[in-house]
Amino acid sequence: MQQGTDPAEGSSHAPRESGARGPVRQRNPARTKNAGIPPSKVYPEPVDRLIAELARLPGIGRRAAERLALHILKEDRADALGLARAIEDVKTSIRHCQTCFNLSDGEVCGICASAERDAAVVLVVEQPRDLIWLEQSGAYRGVYHVLLGRISPLDGIGPSEITAAELLDRVRDPAHNARGVAVREVVLGLNPTIEGDGTGLYLADEIRRAAPGVRITRLARGLAAGSTLEFANKAVLADAITGRRSID
Ligand SMILES: [Zn+2]
Repeated sequence: MQQGTDPAEGSSHAPRESGARGPVRQRNPARTKNAGIPPSKVYPEPVDRLIAELARLPGIGRRAAERLALHILKEDRADALGLARAIEDVKTSIRHCQTCFNLSDGEVCGICASAERDAAVVLVVEQPRDLIWLEQSGAYRGVYHVLLGRISPLDGIGPSEITAAELLDRVRDPAHNARGVAVREVVLGLNPTIEGDGTGLYLADEIRRAAPGVRITRLARGLAAGSTLEFANKAVLADAITGRRSID
């Protein structure tokens, strides 16, 4: 999975230290001025600044940024300000669910709050977007836990940089789980990569220690090794959920 530029991807910072329950975390809060793009000497300074800001977005190069900036300049004032407001709203109102770390506009996300979901089954994923893909399969009725990363020793990311401790709290104590329900099963839904597998092994060990009675399963491997949940189609995801198997 690609790292870094997607704000919905969370970050590798320690959740307990960086206000995990506050605003959505970003990987690189320190910004490089103008993202390395020199002023054009053609446009007025505010236009150069807009181009530089747009060029910081993933997949947007200098040329595309320039095209977008000129489009915004040409647009109605109301449309352009609507875009600015939408960005501001998403950054001020969206945070992580205090239970599962899904993106949420309140303290608890809609999935954790819903009485229709089986809060005794917790599916663990790496990123909010994995959750979105699994939700779209429509095959899962339990709740989630978003790790906001995976353990990757080579990148200096250990268990304290993901929401592992919060997962163990949920498993140990119903008061930390959605709607106060005791956890019966944890489904490991990490990506089938070396880091995903390593993270899964670590979590399985810790869950066994924290709550020996909890069943631990993982998604069935309809998913090709090295692929990510994001690129699996809905049918494969649904099979992976219904065909999950016990690992204890
Ligand atoms: Zn939640």
